[in-house]
Parts: sequence; structure tokens; C-alpha cells
Amino acid sequence: MKSRTVKKVIQAQRTVEGGGFVVRRPFPTRTLDQYDPFLLLDEMGPSDNEPGQAKGAPDHPHRGFETVTYLLDGEFQHRDSAGNHGELKAGDVQWMTAGNGVVHSEMPSEKILREGGRLHGFQLWVNLAKKDKRIPPRYQDTPSAKIPVIEKDGTRVKVIAGPGAVIETRIPILYLHVTLKPGAKFEHEVPKDFALFTYVFDGAGSGEMRIYGDDGDGIVLQNDSDSKQEILVLGGRPIREPVARYGPFVMNTVEEIEEAFDDYRSGRMGRIA
Ligand code: FE
Repeated sequence: MKSRTVKKVIQAQRTVEGGGFVVRRPFPTRTLDQYDPFLLLDEMGPSDNEPGQAKGAPDHPHRGFETVTYLLDGEFQHRDSAGNHGELKAGDVQWMTAGNGVVHSEMPSEKILREGGRLHGFQLWVNLAKKDKRIPPRYQDTPSAKIPVIEKDGTRVKVIAGPGAVIETRIPILYLHVTLKPGAKFEHEVPKDFALFTYVFDGAGSGEMRIYGDDGDGIVLQNDSDSKQEILVLGGRPIREPVARYGPFVMNTVEEIEEAFDDYRSGRMGRIA
């Protein structure tokens, strides 16, 4: 297989998000505002919290895109305006299609708040096409045990989205968590028309977003270092539509953003009971 090659490397920036938790963010930054069809990637933590110290994101709305939370360590709880309530544990994924709009909160679990503990995970924002921006909200809460894992020759691949995955996506998306032992190699076919990047979060190159060209049939990752590497592989078919974004809303026009604010303020996206 001919591998696509890295065209650009972006260093994630440290920033403080939501109720005060620290994230490493490859985008959006001043260097890169989006990477169609992706709007944001945050690495939350890892942080080791004292009792009462863990932070989350209290009640806030979303409209027009999807939020994907993948937890590596710790526990989160979420509540929303439709009455949904659930807990996310280490290894679990929540794929939330905000669509027309939800108001939700994403907080550390009662246990983590009370006793402290480690929090580490990712939030990815995936854009929706114009035709899907106002669809009813949908949750795919997926426990770790249901997410396929492939282990072979020093590589471990958790298939969150893409061929073989259990989570359904609105547009074709590839989302893999790849662990490479020293010397290990990973190869995966990627459709020609996919935007493709990796985010390294442990080992050599940690904090780097690597953007790939379309000059190959797929991706080849080789760990030439003497320690383990942890890498997210993200690909998707670009939507190629105008993007108007403001905070928690991502639409196609400024008028639609104003409408979203209006709907939120007047309670038409609901409230958390
Ligand atoms: Fe949110």
C-alpha cells in the first residue's frame, strides 16, 4: 500500500475550557480554524484531581453538529433537556448528534467529585451537512465492551467509527485509537476523498496533529521510538458547505446562528429539569 504523506504538523495548544478544565487543543486555533468535516478536537487532561477539584461543563446548548466524547480515564455524567441521563466510564464513547438542539451538562461523576481521581479523554466535534443540521437529537452511548478492538503484531486498534464499527455516523467517518509498541507498524486503507489526520497523545510526537495529503491509498504508522505511542486516526469526507460558527452553534449562515441564540434564550431547545 502506498501511504499518504504528512503535509503539515500542528502543535496542540493548552487552553482552559468550560467550567475550568484544562485541555490540549490542536484545533480550532489561530493556525487552523477547522479541518472539514471536523470542527474541534480537545484532549481533556490527563488531570489528577483532589476531592472537590474536578471540573466539567455545566448546562450549555449545541445545535448543528455532533459531539463525540471518548473517555480514557475517570467517569463523567451527562444530563440533557430531553431528560436523558447517563454515565460514561473509561473506554466508553458517547456520540451525540445535537442536530436541532439540546441543552446538556457534562460533569465528572459524583464519585470523582467526592473522592477525586484521574480524568483523561477526548471531545471531537463533527460537522453536519445542511440537510442534517435540524434533525432530532440522537445519542449513541457505547460502552467500551461493545467497541471492536483488533490486536496484532504489537498494534492495538480500537474502532470507534469506520468499517467494522458499531457506531453509526451521518457522513463517512473513520475514528481509530491506535496503540503502537516500539517497532510496531500499522496500515489502514483510507478512501481517496477523505480528509485525514492523526493526533499523537502519548510517546514520541505527543501533542502533534499531523495532516495528511491525498497522495496514497491509506495510512501507514510506524513507531521507530523505544516507547509506546498512542495515536488517534481521524478521517472523514469533507462537507464543503459554508460554516458559520459561534460558541456552541455551528450553522451555514449568520442568520441561522442568530436564530439558534433566539431559540436557546426563549427555551425552545429545552432546559435541564
Ligand atoms: Fe457539550
